[in-house]
Amino acid sequence: MLVDTHAHLDFEKFDRDRPAVLARAREAGVVAIVTIGVDLPSSQAAVALAEAHEAVYATVGMHPHDAKALDGEVLARLRDLGGHEKVVAVGEIGLDFYRDLSPRDVQRRAFRAQLAWAARLGKPVVIHDREAHGQIMEVLSGWAVEQGGSPLEGRLGVLHTFSGDLVMAERAIELGFYLSISGPVTYKNARRLAEVVRAVPLERLLVETDCPFLAPHPHRGKRNEPAYVHLVAERVAEIKGLPLDKVAAATTANAERLFGFEIWEGGGSSSPPPEQ
Ligand SMILES: [Zn+2]
Repeated sequence: MLVDTHAHLDFEKFDRDRPAVLARAREAGVVAIVTIGVDLPSSQAAVALAEAHEAVYATVGMHPHDAKALDGEVLARLRDLGGHEKVVAVGEIGLDFYRDLSPRDVQRRAFRAQLAWAARLGKPVVIHDREAHGQIMEVLSGWAVEQGGSPLEGRLGVLHTFSGDLVMAERAIELGFYLSISGPVTYKNARRLAEVVRAVPLERLLVETDCPFLAPHPHRGKRNEPAYVHLVAERVAEIKGLPLDKVAAATTANAERLFGFEIWEGGGSSSPPPEQ
């Protein structure tokens, strides 16, 4: 059993064959998929997918690329969606100083506003961090302190497609974050990421695809999909010198703890089996 903790199932790349993609995920042992909102329409689409498919959960939020579109009205509409029972987190939110598609001060403002909203909502956050490690940690450190004693303590969120070094990884874990590992861990040049995976406790790791992006080896460069999350888990197991079963069970339990959903042994479902 595996959970793909970060997918973009609503993206156009899946329009042609979404049901087949979901069926392949199920066959590959993927019992839950968290599909991620990046703006208002994709957050709405994520919630609709979660309503249509038992194994799919949603997050809602405004990606740093589109931070400039986060005005009061959009935030209010995202907030309305956030209360939905299958919305398990606010995200993806954060900072992207690689593409800089929104001005940096606008990104920071949107990031802080959505962190405050997540805290009020009582749901964890999914963090996007590209070439902004220092500022991400600065903002998250302050926010984490404010959450001390709240139900979110110890499960504040996840740094998705983690790309920092071991010092940052350990600091994030200390604050109460999980790290999510994706396709790049399977690439030949992933030495620093392998070092992080080896050193941090399995209890703080998640696996994801970030599909349709970042396809793991041997699919690199092609469209990614949730079924491929097993390739990420296999590489994590190899790096840590653990059986795949153990990595699968632990990362699934971690996803349940962070996102507050429960997967029963029948697999793929959000609700327990009916009582006899
Ligand atoms: Zn993403």
